[in-house]
Parts: sequence; C-alpha cells; structure tokens
Amino acid sequence: MPMANNRFFLFGRDMAVDLGTANTLVYVRGLGVVLNEPSVVAVNVKDGRPLAVGAEAKRMIGRTPSHIQAIRPLKDGVIADFEICEKMIRYFIQRVQQRRFAKPRMVMCVPSGITGVEQRAVMEAAEYAGARKAYIIEEPMAAAIGAGLPVHEPTGNMVVDIGGGTTEVAVISLGGIVTSQSVRIGGDELDEAIISYIKKEYSLALGERTAEEIKIALGSAFPLEEELHAEVRGRDLVTGLPKTIVVSTEEIRKAIGEPVSAIIDAVKITLDKTPPELAADIMEQGVVLTGGGALLRGLDARLREETDVRIVVARDPLSCVVIGAGQCLEEFETLKRVLVTSSAR
Ligand code: ADP
Ligand code: MG
Repeated sequence: MPMANNRFFLFGRDMAVDLGTANTLVYVRGLGVVLNEPSVVAVNVKDGRPLAVGAEAKRMIGRTPSHIQAIRPLKDGVIADFEICEKMIRYFIQRVQQRRFAKPRMVMCVPSGITGVEQRAVMEAAEYAGARKAYIIEEPMAAAIGAGLPVHEPTGNMVVDIGGGTTEVAVISLGGIVTSQSVRIGGDELDEAIISYIKKEYSLALGERTAEEIKIALGSAFPLEEELHAEVRGRDLVTGLPKTIVVSTEEIRKAIGEPVSAIIDAVKITLDKTPPELAADIMEQGVVLTGGGALLRGLDARLREETDVRIVVARDPLSCVVIGAGQCLEEFETLKRVLVTSSAR
C-alpha cells in the first residue's frame, strides 16, 4: 500500500468506494486507487469487536478458533450483516481519510440488488464516516465508465460485471441503463461448485479459500490449448486425515459448468431483451467483461462462441467499478447525471 505514508495528502479529498461482495476498493480524487482489500471482517463473537479487516481477516477464513468469526458482510449481492458492513466501510474510509473534520464528497458503488433502505443506510455510513455528501452509483454504470465505454453517446454499450456474489449485465446508452439483468451467481458459486465436485468425486473436503485458489489456478470456461494438472490438498472425509489428489483443468471446467452456463444465459437473455438498434451497436462494438470473474480462462471465447458477438475483457477488470466511480469525481460536473441518488443535504 504505497499511499499509507501519504495520508497527509488525502486530507479532505473526494473519494469513491466500490463496496463489492468480494473486494472493497477506494479511489481518492487526484490520486487514483489507494485501497484494495477483501470485504471481510474478523470479529470476536464474545463482544462483537472487529479484530481484523480486509486481507488479514480473509486469511482467517476457515482457520478461526471458536471465539473468532470471519464474516463477509456482503453476500450474494446483498448486505447480509448490516452492522458489520457499516463498521467495515467506516474502517476503510478512515484508513485513507484520517482527519475527521475534512468533509469530502463520497460516491458509493453498491450491488444493484440492495434495497432502497440499504442504499440509504450505506449513504448514512458514508456520512457517519465523514462524508459531506454521499452519492450512490449503480455498479454496471460505474463498470462501463471505468472500462472506457462511451456511456453518454447515443449508442448501445453492453457491460457484464462478474463479481463474487453476482453477475450484472447492462445495456447503457445516453447516460442511462436501458436494460439490465442481475443474477445472484458469481465467483462464489464457482468456488462452491468446486467444493461439491471434489467432495462427490474424491470424498475430499476443501475450504473456501482453497477452492478459490483452485478456480484461479485451474478454472476455465472453454477447452484450453494445453490442459493442465495440479495437486489439491484437503481432508479425506473417510479417514479424516489430510490427503493430496491430482485434478485436471478438464475436471474443474466440468465442476463449474453449471454456474458458468448461468452467467452465459444472463448475457444471452439481456441480448434478447435489447432493442434492435442498440443490439446492432453491440454487435459492432462488442461486449465488455469486468469484475474478477472476467479473468476466468476462456470465458471470453465461450461467450463469443455462444453469442456470436465480439467479447472484450476490460483492462484491469477488478478495478473498473471504482475507477468509473472515481471518474465521476474527477469530472463531477459532466458525470453527476449518472449518480442515481444523492442525499437531501
Ligand atoms: P466483487 O465486486 O463482488 O467484490 P470482484 O469483481 O472483486 O467482486 O471479483 C471477485 C471474484 O473474482 C472472486 O470470486 C474471485 O475469486 C474472482 N476472481 C479473481 N481473479 C480471478 C481469476 N483469475 N479467475 C477467476 N476468477 C477470479
Ligand atoms: Mg464488483
């Protein structure tokens, strides 16, 4: 975290926060992305106090003694634990914003599945953490801006943001979302599919973290030029002892087949619902993939094959949302139109 020594310069600067189900990123106006941490909080269950937040807390998942619980306050695209979520937002904001009397503007990107009450509560958390004024931006809009799409032009732009808990597909034109689809399937479901496959085929129990590592190392959505093998370690459900097995990329592709198909279906359904003029634009310009799920090997090739549309993986897909929201701060006057809600004050 190179900015850690530079807190002095962050005084009062406007910021954008991408509150993702898997990762939270903070962008500070004029500086860019200054924080990128897993959305995880480890709490002491005895008194509810947070013991660790972010990467440190994520390392504790599946490794905690009984009095510590590693919590992901956002799951499946909704706020599962509001109190912890608020603490996490406050902790991250305060880490980059030390002076409490500095009153910046804050743009919060939230999963589109959260309710109006939750949106309001996220804005309140931002205000409590020191925002002079808090705004909400819809994630697909932020993702599209961050991916460099011309969202204000009278042309169809399609963005597919595949996060930890959700996949959001949206068609944007003239600064607004024309049609969209949000499914509660994302990277987490791929991890879970790997856990159930390995359990069923090898009677081996895997933790969430290991499953995610396997997905990143071996996961794919399309046959690879060269299929690979790797060792996987887990706990044998029969003997109860640690055991190592060897799995192939083909097997893992089969394991995650179902949730991958669900993601592809969401894209197809949105393409089907797109008005013809915009669909023609999309055919010409292609569909942009953002979010960590965009990095799944061969997902672009698979989508291309199934939709006949050009597919482009955004540069730095994990940062598109926060960069897009940050862009709204940098060009506040021209881009404030896309901020859906702003507080009354
Ligand atoms: P969110 O916006 O919900 O916080 P992100 O856009 O940060 O989600 O993406 C996180 C998801 O992307 C996680 O499920 C993670 O496992 C997955 N991911 C990250 N890198 C890769 C990769 N190389 N291949 C496949 N999935 C990945
Ligand atoms: Mg996201």
